[in-house]
Amino acid sequence: MKLPIVCPSCDHTLNVSQMTCSNCKTEVNGDYELPVLLKLNREEQDFVLSFFLSSGSIKEMAKQAGLSYPTMRNKMDDLINKITQLKN
Ligand SMILES: [Zn+2]
Repeated sequence: MKLPIVCPSCDHTLNVSQMTCSNCKTEVNGDYELPVLLKLNREEQDFVLSFFLSSGSIKEMAKQAGLSYPTMRNKMDDLINKITQLKN
């Protein structure tokens, strides 16, 4: 499942406007802001998940991805900057 996160028309971040109960098909409408982590693209979400699953070890992530520590550290810093901006 790939959740669309930006407007195809103007590139602004999308909000959630409708949710459906998979059991009884009840539909709920509103204008809800996505949680910060869901505003990341799929690759960035995978990065956060893999950071968590490697117990927060950038060294371990670099090893598993076959990248150098500084490369992985830069990816981390870029993502920290992006999330900091999304939170503001
Ligand atoms: Zn229901």
